[in-house]
Amino acid sequence: GKYEKMDIPVKGGDELTNINRTFNMMMEKLEQHYRKQEEFVSNASHELKTPITVIESYTKLLLRRGFDNREVAQESLLAIANESSRMHEMVLQLLELAKNNEHLDIHFEQLELAPFLNKVASQMQHAYHRAFIVDVKKPSFVYSDEKILKQLLFILLDNARKYSEDEVHILATETANHVCITIQDFGIGIPAEHIPHLFERFYRVTGDRNRKTGGSGLGLAIAHGLAEQLGIMMDVKSTIGEGSSFTLCIPKEGQQ
Ligand code: ADP
Repeated sequence: GKYEKMDIPVKGGDELTNINRTFNMMMEKLEQHYRKQEEFVSNASHELKTPITVIESYTKLLLRRGFDNREVAQESLLAIANESSRMHEMVLQLLELAKNNEHLDIHFEQLELAPFLNKVASQMQHAYHRAFIVDVKKPSFVYSDEKILKQLLFILLDNARKYSEDEVHILATETANHVCITIQDFGIGIPAEHIPHLFERFYRVTGDRNRKTGGSGLGLAIAHGLAEQLGIMMDVKSTIGEGSSFTLCIPKEGQQ
């Protein structure tokens, strides 16, 4: 620990005891914050080190054997290109995370739900040639920030696409106080014990299943930060082998 707890000797009775207690509580909070920050930097460095190492070793191979051997050159350059884009993506995400901690510029407005969701779905459809099916049950409007909500949905839709092979559903429903948007996939699902950790930075469900998607474990941490800024609650339901659904509950206007 970087902060030593300070036990102020108690002479004057209750008041000093209280000050002492408050002081120790503050120090504990600070220490917790500091530890989290430290962990973040160490995780980020570790995650960036992997692609750098791969790029380094392929560059050496390229220099050593790439001039005489076309196949070696091809393989090396391909690996370097892949790892560079992975690193690029990760750096963008890290910047996004850092931004999340500050206050975003938020502009709440009435959004017409069906056209909004249809636009998001068709963008995903064009990018990934996969069916994204929108079903708006009841609510016609939602009160939120269009840009941020879109960014949040893109993260969830991108995951739904990455971890499944079939169509993805986007469903809008409403309760008395909330408009809810559910992103449902019929993919690999998430083991129950991992669900509480999904929104932590760099957290990925381990195993072979994840290797081919080459993610960073930052998407849901960013989504969580964005949801917080918009007053949105997120809920996850999942069954292994059947699929997952992520639900966003957006407070109705006037209940922000
Ligand atoms: P990543 O870049 O790894 O996708 P995320 O933070 O977006 O990072 O997600 C964290 C982990 O949660 C993923 O690595 C994956 O294991 C799991 N996950 C997220 N969304 C889904 C989903 N729709 N289906 C199955 N697993 C998911």
